[in-house]
Amino acid sequence: MQRSILILGGTAEARALAGKLAGDPRFTVELSLAGRTRAPAEQPVPVRVGGFGGAEGLATYLRQKGVSILIDATHPYAAQISRNAAEAAEISGIPLVALRRSPWLRLPGDRWVEVESVADAVSTLGVVPRKAFLTLGRQELLPFEAAPQHDYLVRSVDPVEPPLAVPNAVYLTARGPFGQAGEARLLQDHGIEVIVAKNSGGPASYEKIAAARDLGIDVVLIRRPDLPDVPSVETVDEMLAWLDHAPAPLK
Ligand code: NAP
Repeated sequence: MQRSILILGGTAEARALAGKLAGDPRFTVELSLAGRTRAPAEQPVPVRVGGFGGAEGLATYLRQKGVSILIDATHPYAAQISRNAAEAAEISGIPLVALRRSPWLRLPGDRWVEVESVADAVSTLGVVPRKAFLTLGRQELLPFEAAPQHDYLVRSVDPVEPPLAVPNAVYLTARGPFGQAGEARLLQDHGIEVIVAKNSGGPASYEKIAAARDLGIDVVLIRRPDLPDVPSVETVDEMLAWLDHAPAPLK
């Protein structure tokens, strides 16, 4: 009997996992996206887009669709959907497993300042004007308007509209990976003195961190939010192994 998997996605790992499961006769797979990007990457399995209406809404969806395994492969900073997934699994009794990449660890030469929030990152930039590279979601940029003295280079998947109310900002729209040499060139071309980033983990966005280390550039790293304590694995291969041994449904 086929088991039905719902993957809560929006990450490279969710897409890679869906690709590995597509065509596996043991499973039917649907991927759920928040709908944050205008032109999301093409996905190898059927996709649904948009919120469920909280934990209750997600639990109802799981029951109605006959989902037998829920996989939370969302971004480590998307804490609300992860909390909803944990609660929906409780309510519905459907097993949940999370795919969570481990955070990057500080290496010798890294010039990191770790902060709790975007607002803390803004104050950490200080009062003296600096050239700052912001690699945050476009929804998280508004607090930088409180520090208009800096020159900003902003990179996001979708355009930042409206632009920030600061006198000096350059916007790039791009989707990684970018390669360490490309990141180093970008940092040097723009004379970047400090990067503001999330500790996303994984290889796709690490190149800027590695380039910053080589060039002696400061990185203000926003700490990860607390996530619910649920069974979890760190890689797509570990998830596939977990699925190989996942308990069969009762009917
Ligand atoms: P969030 O704050 O955890 O989620 C907010 C709401 O969006 C959820 O309550 C849910 O709505 C809906 N949602 C989120 N992920 C969903 C999914 N996979 N499928 C269906 N609905 C989903 O997450 P966020 O607002 O997307 O992002 C928060 C942080 O994560 C930001 O820092 C963002 O840059 C980062 N991030 C997110 C993604 C992503 O794809 N979500 C990717 C990269 C980075 P309902 O309660 O109505 O169900």
